Amino acid sequence: MISVALISHDGKKPEMVSFVLGNRDFFDKCTIYATGTTGSHIEKEGLDVNLLLSGPIGGDAQIAALLAEGKIDLIIFFRDPLAKHPHEPDVQMLMRLCDVHNVPLATNPKAAKYLLAGIECLVMKKDTH
Ligand code: PGA
Repeated sequence: MISVALISHDGKKPEMVSFVLGNRDFFDKCTIYATGTTGSHIEKEGLDVNLLLSGPIGGDAQIAALLAEGKIDLIIFFRDPLAKHPHEPDVQMLMRLCDVHNVPLATNPKAAKYLLAGIECLVMKKDTH
C-alpha cells in the first residue's frame, strides 16, 4: 500500500481538503499520514488518517523522520508562498530529505494531480497484476 504524507499551510487547507475529496478513490487505497490540523480536516471528511503533531510544533519534522526511515512514498505539501512560517527551517529540512531519499514531493494541486496520475499508472496498476 502506498504511504502518503499530507501537509498544508493555513491558507491552503481548503485546497487540500478539496484535492483529497476530488481524488478520494486514490486516497482510500493509501495509508495517510498528516500534520495535525491538516489531518483533522481530512479526518472530518471520513478518511482514516495517522495524525502527527501540528506542523509548527514538530509535525513536519515527524514526517521528515518517517521519510528518512523509508516509510513515506510521496508527499503532498501545499505551501503558502505568501505567508511567513515560524517553522520554515523544518520545511526546508523536509524538502531536503525528499531529495536525499528520492521521494516525490508535490507543492501545488496541479503537480499533485500529475503525481497521482503517474503513481496510478506506474505503481498501482502493476500491483494488481
Ligand atoms: P498543520 O501543519 O497541518 O498542523 O497546520 C502544517 C504546517 O504548517 O506545516
